[in-house]
Amino acid sequence: MRYSELLDGKSGYKDFLAACEHARSVSLLGAVDGLLQWDEQTMLPSDGGDFRAEQVAALAAITHAQRTEEKQGERLQKLKDSPLEKEGPGAVQATIRLLHSDFQKQSRVPGKLVQELARTSIKAQQAWVRAVKASEWKPMVTHLEKMFSLKRELAACQSPDLDPYDALLDDYEPGARWKAIDTTFSCLRKALAPLVRGCIESSGGPQETVLRGNFPLQSQQAFVCQVIEKIGFSFDRGRLDTTAHPFCSTLGPNDCRLTTRWDEKFLPTALYSVLHEAGHGLYEQGLPVDWFGLPPGEAASLGIHESQSRLWENLVGRSPEFWEWCHPIARKAFPESFDNVSPGMLAKAVRSVNPSFIRVEADEVTYNLHVMMRFDLEREIIHGNLLVADLPSAWNERFETDFGSRPSRIEDGVLQDIHWPAGLIGYFPTYTLGNIFSAQIMAAAQQSGVGIADQIRNGEFTPLLHWLRENVHSFGRTYTSEALVEKASGKPVSEQYLVDSLYQRYGPLHGLSPDMPKLL
Ligand code: ZN
Repeated sequence: MRYSELLDGKSGYKDFLAACEHARSVSLLGAVDGLLQWDEQTMLPSDGGDFRAEQVAALAAITHAQRTEEKQGERLQKLKDSPLEKEGPGAVQATIRLLHSDFQKQSRVPGKLVQELARTSIKAQQAWVRAVKASEWKPMVTHLEKMFSLKRELAACQSPDLDPYDALLDDYEPGARWKAIDTTFSCLRKALAPLVRGCIESSGGPQETVLRGNFPLQSQQAFVCQVIEKIGFSFDRGRLDTTAHPFCSTLGPNDCRLTTRWDEKFLPTALYSVLHEAGHGLYEQGLPVDWFGLPPGEAASLGIHESQSRLWENLVGRSPEFWEWCHPIARKAFPESFDNVSPGMLAKAVRSVNPSFIRVEADEVTYNLHVMMRFDLEREIIHGNLLVADLPSAWNERFETDFGSRPSRIEDGVLQDIHWPAGLIGYFPTYTLGNIFSAQIMAAAQQSGVGIADQIRNGEFTPLLHWLRENVHSFGRTYTSEALVEKASGKPVSEQYLVDSLYQRYGPLHGLSPDMPKLL
């Protein structure tokens, strides 16, 4: 149902529309905050950080005050007790339920804490940039201690009945609980262990040498734009800019910002980060515009968001068929580097497995180990079992257990991610949840006859995008992530789809049997 249909003189919706208009006016401020944050990460001169922190903190206070206005609370309570909440159209019911629970949660948080969190986040991110440059951990300790302590305070305020880590997780993956995630991750870890070992020890696996060469910036920019436009990203409703840490941010219903970094010697850095961010962008551009600023027009969760980015980046972008289609375009863009390279060589090279210290450079097979490690460490800090000051040693020990080596530079270890300085605690597990969801969603799409080899080989991406629009994007936030994946695939969420997908796509390529997981 469209939001505009409710506007046509139906008096029963008067209170509902008033509550929605209020929520939408708050989302305008949220979009202004998004613009300040986008600018902070793409354009802001290094000395401009302190003033920007004050701007963002001031805006956070105004937004929080408006969001938690008493009148809106009364309106939402009235709607919650009205027949509309049980008998209205699905989108209306979900909107009332979610606006009401969001309001309850947010109004328990003091404005001062919201403001302090916003200020600390910008300052800590600026300090992080300096610390990485100087390769120093020490200056970050007080920033991170403050951030973790503020987040613990936030958890206690917004959801006093929940475990503090669950309270934080709920902001990114509504309804998720760490114990259930921990069980899923343990199964995944166990199931993937033989594949990880097999790929790393395999001597005949593909090498990424053919992906190194000369890739002039301008040619790369034109090439990646051509690729993501072809998969369906609309440049009339979005753009691509340069940053140190790629991300996708939506600043309005028709304004989706992608960012990437470039490496003129190694094509995958930009190509796969842009495909990834464009996957996020396709989801944002596929949400119902009519409901912008309201739950049916918002993403279901970060896990679902990540499922969309991973699907295009890995399940489409690293397939042999993708390279059959893309090869002539890449060869035309980079004749010097790709003249004697076949589609098959490129498709294999982008699936080489090389354990890396750096999460964002990790291959698909080892990627989830990076995430599980962060999930465990940040949870231990929130639960009071680990001190921020001890993070580097805890990090290095765990890394050695999982990967067999220790990073020697702090920026290759605990300092590599912006998430903790930014206050994104409880965010990391959504990356692996996204991988799990993406494999299950793609399997369901392919069973429906879309996203299959023949279509991708011919550059026909529209059927897959339409299927995703219809089965995932169009529902916005009206279902939880698990319910949405179950609805789209007809099966309960299971990590087995990801295990199968990784074994099938990486096992034989590294001389392993695709049936290995069944041996466990
Ligand atoms: Zn992502």
